[in-house]
Amino acid sequence: MSNASEAMSKVLWAELFPAELIARQQECPIVFVPLGLCEPHGQISAFGLDTFKTEYLCARVARQVGGIVAPSMGYHVHEAGPSAKFLEDNVGEHNPFMSSVPPYVFYHFFLYQLRSFYNAGFQSAVILSGHGGAHVHDLRQISRMFQEQTGMSIWYGTDFDLVEGTYTGDHAGKYEISMLMHIRPDLIDPSKKGLEELDGAGGRLAAAHDANEATREYGEQICRACELALSRIAADLGQRSQAVTNRMPLPYEVVEDLWSQIVQSAEMGTEHWAALQPRAGQSPVSEQSRWKPYEHIRMRD
Ligand SMILES: [Zn+2]
Repeated sequence: MSNASEAMSKVLWAELFPAELIARQQECPIVFVPLGLCEPHGQISAFGLDTFKTEYLCARVARQVGGIVAPSMGYHVHEAGPSAKFLEDNVGEHNPFMSSVPPYVFYHFFLYQLRSFYNAGFQSAVILSGHGGAHVHDLRQISRMFQEQTGMSIWYGTDFDLVEGTYTGDHAGKYEISMLMHIRPDLIDPSKKGLEELDGAGGRLAAAHDANEATREYGEQICRACELALSRIAADLGQRSQAVTNRMPLPYEVVEDLWSQIVQSAEMGTEHWAALQPRAGQSPVSEQSRWKPYEHIRMRD
């Protein structure tokens, strides 16, 4: 690869020199934001599956359509609200070795992440989460609020959304395990199959029952479909945006005002925040479970 084409393929914000960043941003003022976390995906998979999926897709699409990939976020919302029961059922009382944070910490910080993209001059943000759940609803709502306040266009979604209707997403099943087999084959170890069922091996750790059907080829097909859908989204956003080089930075107060609105709306019940309580009709977490404290939480200031 020549030096020129190597420079062209550099898309990570963290790897760019100032002149390179400005050039890429002027050509396509989109920031791609990979969101993932460490959470159990069975005994056969490394913990960072969700992060690897989104980092891979964001970098591939930024190379194809332009734009810059922001530093990954490796901490995410889990365990709270509807996830508490999911974790009781699928991980039980085993240590989940999970990099989760409370929704109110993540949401508040998320606003500051959006602020940093705005202040850096991006006109659009494509936020791709490798991790789904009730919080998707909340983060879309927060994205809309920030967009209305600032005019920056934001798309928030998961890889599951990208291929909806074509491939069925899962947690640590045929879909996700196949993807990691394609993206990072060294991080899936099929020789660990069956450990899920052994006493003392650490438990099933949320593996889905069809994980054994995963193949690298299937993972490649899913990745291709995700890439195609994500590049369409980015191209659409890119057409509507121009780089803004001399923008007044957004002060902290703007973020804090939005955050106060969010906390108030949760307290008054004027807005539904999906990650704070179980889904309607979801059965309750057992009293003695390690997940019980997270079933109902508040949006704290
Ligand atoms: Zn996952």
